[in-house]
Amino acid sequence: MTDCLFCKIAAKEIPAEIVLETDRTLAFRDINPQAPTHVLVVPKEHHADAAALAAADDGLADDVLKTAHAVAQGDGVSEAGYRVVFNTGPAAGQTVFHVHAHVLGGREMRWPPG
Ligand code: AMP
Ligand code: ZN
Repeated sequence: MTDCLFCKIAAKEIPAEIVLETDRTLAFRDINPQAPTHVLVVPKEHHADAAALAAADDGLADDVLKTAHAVAQGDGVSEAGYRVVFNTGPAAGQTVFHVHAHVLGGREMRWPPG
């Protein structure tokens, strides 16, 4: 996709604070962090949201989740616990329509989320 912010970050056309990269995924720090650890994990390939990623059905959703866990381990929050969030659709607060997992940790998480 030519006009997609996260495609451009994945292609390194727009800078980001990258924390982990695999063949098919990229993890970078959220520009407006909501927790001490707030990292976004994206597939390099464009899919609009989690439903589209799941429908692709080629193991890419697995890769995104594995990278999310590796990020949590790298930031030292995996043992205490962390949250993985896919905002899906406008009513859930999705603003960037290139699927991304929010990896949040390093503070107490409230439930239910707002
Ligand atoms: P969502 O609202 O779930 O679509 O999440 C989009 C996230 O992208 C928000 O948490 C933003 O702070 C974050 N974001 C927007 N632009 C950038 C950017 N250039 N680099 C890193 N994170 C960004
Ligand atoms: Zn994209």
